[in-house]
Amino acid sequence: MTIVCIQKSTYPSPEIERLLAPLGGMASFVEKGDRVLLKVNLLSAREPEKAVTTHPEVVRAVAQSVKEAGGIPYIGDSPSGKFSERALRKAYKRSGLEDIANEEGIPLNRDTGTRRLDIPDGVRLKQTSVCNFVLETDKIIALPKLKTHSLQYMTLACKIMYGAIPGLTKAKYHAQFPRRAAFADMLLDITMFIKPGLFIMDGIVGMQGQGPGSGDPVNLGWLLASTDPVAMDIAVCRLVGIEPVAIPALKRAKVRKLWPEDIEYPILAPEDTAYQEFKLPNTTDYLLTGKKTPKKSPMVTEKCIACGDCEEICPKDAVQVKDDRASVDYSKCIRCFCCHEVCPEKAIDLVAAKKR
Ligand code: SF4
Ligand code: SF4
Repeated sequence: MTIVCIQKSTYPSPEIERLLAPLGGMASFVEKGDRVLLKVNLLSAREPEKAVTTHPEVVRAVAQSVKEAGGIPYIGDSPSGKFSERALRKAYKRSGLEDIANEEGIPLNRDTGTRRLDIPDGVRLKQTSVCNFVLETDKIIALPKLKTHSLQYMTLACKIMYGAIPGLTKAKYHAQFPRRAAFADMLLDITMFIKPGLFIMDGIVGMQGQGPGSGDPVNLGWLLASTDPVAMDIAVCRLVGIEPVAIPALKRAKVRKLWPEDIEYPILAPEDTAYQEFKLPNTTDYLLTGKKTPKKSPMVTEKCIACGDCEEICPKDAVQVKDDRASVDYSKCIRCFCCHEVCPEKAIDLVAAKKR
């Protein structure tokens, strides 16, 4: 039986030990002297209230729990865009992680080195670059944020280890695996290869709508824990009223026989605390209506400040910033939505082709 713990929580006191009690407490995962990577979701440099990144109070509470178990926590992720010290500094500061790191004496990873590794059991990915900060550790605790995702519909536990891949390599994989199913398989290859020992999901304030970077914060009040990312994501789908197989990563996980036979919910069951009004991205309308909707493409709006982030990340060189505004060459665009994901101004809408 696979366990998924779901409890109602708030910032700033998420009560990690109560959450982990049915799993044997933090001491079941961390031994005295272990270096423990807290793998956060640090998609980009956004304030905690935007719900783009793992909330710093969840990270603080997990770090305190790791220390009480005798471990030595540190914080790391590879944000989107170029994996550089400058980008990390900016993201740590704006996400509130720098403050809690200083207050709690927790190191923030600043090493941008990478190593090339074979993935012997990879279905799509047989080799990849992986960030050193993920490899030079004894244990990994992943701290995903509960968010929607315009390409993969939801970004949850099965996708959190994509941050082990250095910045722009992630964008290149969009070009290499442009189809949703292939991309989902690649995500599973990475998550199963560098599988954390424990997943604790910050769903206290999640993101709905046009995630993962441009959606709206939504108060859900959930904190989840499991050792199994597939079980955790199935639980989230049940909480927000989505059929799990509608999520590409979960569909592929089912095909790959990664689904747990049964899930036990020792604290709250999804039906005890489900949220019926959860809004998915406009790329997923068919999940709600049962009808296929026209394919969406990125459209740059007047909110554009010509920062160039979309141009840098586009894996097909389809974006150009000229005359104080970004524009998209649709003949090159593969609709990966990376540009939409990184835009700090929510200046890119996803619209049906005929509305562009
Ligand atoms: S569309 Fe967004 S990311 Fe692209 S240049 Fe404009 S503001 Fe920057
Ligand atoms: S323009 Fe945007 S959606 Fe199109 S390929 Fe580039 S990053 Fe992807």
